[in-house]
Amino acid sequence: MFNAILIEKDDKGYRSALTQLEQSQLPEGDVTVQVEYSSLNYKDGLAISGKSPVVRHFPMIPGIDLAGTVIESQSAQYHVGDKVLLNGWGVGEKHWGGLAQLARLNSQWLIPLPQQLTTKECMAIGTAGYTAMLAVIALEKHGISPDKGKIIVTGANGGVGSFAIAILAQLGYHVIASTGRTDQTVYLTQLGASEIIDRNELSQPGKPLMKERWIGAVDCVGGHTLANVCASTQYGGTVACCGLAQSIDFPSSVAPFILRGITLAGIDSVMRPYADRIDAWERLATILDESKLDLMSKTISLTEVITTVTQLMQGQIRGRIIVDVN
Ligand code: NDP
Repeated sequence: MFNAILIEKDDKGYRSALTQLEQSQLPEGDVTVQVEYSSLNYKDGLAISGKSPVVRHFPMIPGIDLAGTVIESQSAQYHVGDKVLLNGWGVGEKHWGGLAQLARLNSQWLIPLPQQLTTKECMAIGTAGYTAMLAVIALEKHGISPDKGKIIVTGANGGVGSFAIAILAQLGYHVIASTGRTDQTVYLTQLGASEIIDRNELSQPGKPLMKERWIGAVDCVGGHTLANVCASTQYGGTVACCGLAQSIDFPSSVAPFILRGITLAGIDSVMRPYADRIDAWERLATILDESKLDLMSKTISLTEVITTVTQLMQGQIRGRIIVDVN
């Protein structure tokens, strides 16, 4: 038997609970992992609360992230005892995920645990940190560097936002944090933000072109915020579009693109090829230090997942939630 969060949907409605399952119930896969840590992401919150149709079939174990040790393997690439890491690939949406003590997976979805990091540190980073790193790499690929100008990060207190600030600051950028929680100034400054602005400045409809304020952005919120971020990006700048915490809409115009030559770089972490994942995790392992990870993360047990999701969906969680599944 093993413990897991299970989401069910039937005549009795949509519900999530901590449950005991038998190993024989695990889905097909060529590798079985003893999960050590998972994490809570916005998408896990949507799945567990049922707020958005993230889960494709039921019953489902949520958890888009996991790190642990291989205990059974039919894969030539992974052997019993190997430490592994997984982010995305529809795990926790289409395939049973990481919020459980055991997971059976397709070995193609795994990457070896980065050498400098523990399973717990990897889950402190999780999909949020890995997505933030992909966003920063996208800015770099479009020629952005610290000498070119400031970078704005929206959704600053969230998982992706917190990591984007920490990574960018460590790389020497002047970071502007946009947040609805300006009372978190100390935290955001400790992460490395040089300026903090109220997200209300950006969240209402704006003009097609506005004063040029930053050369790049990591946007976690979409909607009018993303439109205004683009409209305020300096000539030749790049905006990495990561999330939709405000809205899935993009009510913008072509003006910033055809008059200022800015680039909107889409960031997807879920289906990202293996080589990009290895590259991003290697960068994360060298850029982030333990003190920043401690500052950004809090650890909970499986029994606390459901109540913590309620807080997550109300925007009350700062940084990252690690889940110790054992
Ligand atoms: P979190 O819930 O941790 O953070 C989201 C943050 O967005 C909040 O902390 C808040 O920051 C801000 N926010 C919330 N509601 C609003 C609103 N109505 N208007 C403006 N800002 C708002 O989520 P994550 O950091 O894990 O994820 C952020 C986004 O990125 C999500 O939409 C998620 O789905 C997406 N994502 C995308 C990935 C990809 O592959 N592209 C991978 C991972 C996440 P503050 O309090 O500072 O204002």
